Amino acid sequence: MIRRNFIKNSIIGSISASSLLRSKTEKILTDFKSVPRIISTWNHGVKANRVAWEKLKNGEGGLTAVEYGVRDSEDDPNERSVGYGGLPDRDGKVTLDACIMNYNNDCGSVSFLQNIKNPISVARLVMEKTPHIMLSGKGAFDFAVKNGFKKENLLTKQSEKDWKNWLKTSEYKPVINFENHDTISMLLIDSNHNLFGACTTSGAAWKMHGRVGDSPIIGAGLFLDNEVGAAASTGLGEAVIRTAGSAMVVECMRSGMSPLESCKEVVNRISNIHRNRPEWEYLQVGFIALSKNGDYAGYSLKKGFNYALSDDNNDTILVDAGYKI
Ligand code: ASP
Repeated sequence: MIRRNFIKNSIIGSISASSLLRSKTEKILTDFKSVPRIISTWNHGVKANRVAWEKLKNGEGGLTAVEYGVRDSEDDPNERSVGYGGLPDRDGKVTLDACIMNYNNDCGSVSFLQNIKNPISVARLVMEKTPHIMLSGKGAFDFAVKNGFKKENLLTKQSEKDWKNWLKTSEYKPVINFENHDTISMLLIDSNHNLFGACTTSGAAWKMHGRVGDSPIIGAGLFLDNEVGAAASTGLGEAVIRTAGSAMVVECMRSGMSPLESCKEVVNRISNIHRNRPEWEYLQVGFIALSKNGDYAGYSLKKGFNYALSDDNNDTILVDAGYKI
C-alpha cells in the first residue's frame, strides 16, 4: 500500500514536473531573439566569429561555420593557447584537445592529439565517420593521417623559447587569461533555431604530458541540448570537469534560469567547491551560454573574461563578461 502510494505520488510528481518543464520551454520558444547569432570566448573570438558568420552568409551549415570559425584560431601561430603556436607541456610537446557538437546530439572529440594542426576538423570526422565519439593520442593521430591530415611540427620558435625559459624554474601555475585570450569555444544558433558548438585548445601550458582538460569532454568543455540551449567553458579544466560545467549550465537553463543566471550558478558552485583547495589562488573559469531563444551571456569567476558576439545587429563586438570576484 505504502509502495503503491509512493509510486502514484512519484508518477504524479513526474507528470507535474514535466508539464512544468514543458511550459517553461514553450515560454522560451515564444520569445525568439535575433538569430542567427554566434558567441565565442576571448579576443580571438572576434576573428573566429567573422569567419563563421561569413560561412553562414555563404549558405554553409552551422557545423561548418563553427568548425571553420575556430580553425582560424588553430591556424594562427600568435594564438598561444590553441593549435599551431599553442604553448607546450612540460616535455615541450604541443598536445591538442577539441570537440564539436550539433543540434542532433551528434558529437565528436579528440584529445591528446599531437602534430595535427586542426584538431576540430579531426573531431568532426570522428563524429561523421566513426561509431565513436572520442579518439585519443596515437589512435587519434593515426585516424587523422589516414584521413589526409598532414603531420606537422606545431612547436613554433617562440613557443620553444618560452618553454626553455619556463624550464629554468619549472614552476607550475596555470596562467589563465594568458595575454587575455585562451581556449576558443564557439556557440551558434542558426535561423532555424538549431544549435551548434565547437571548442579547441592546446590546454594548460606546462601541464603534465598526457594531461587532458575539459575542452574535449562533451558535458564539461561543451554541451548543448537543442530544446534548451548551449554552453561552453574556458579556464582551469580540472575545475570544470569536476562540476560537469557546461552540462550543468544547460541544465540550469532547462530549469528556467536565464543564460546569465545559469553561468553564475555554476561559477558559484565551482567557487564553493574550490575555495579551500590549493588551486584557488590561480583558479579562473568562464562560461558562455546561448539559449534556444537566442539569449546569451558570459560570466567568469575573476575579472578579465570577454567574448565575441555576432548577429544581425552587431557586426561582431567584444563583450566584457560579468564576474564574481
Ligand atoms: N580549459 C582549458 C584546459 O583546461 C584551458 C583554458 O581554457 O584555459 O585545458
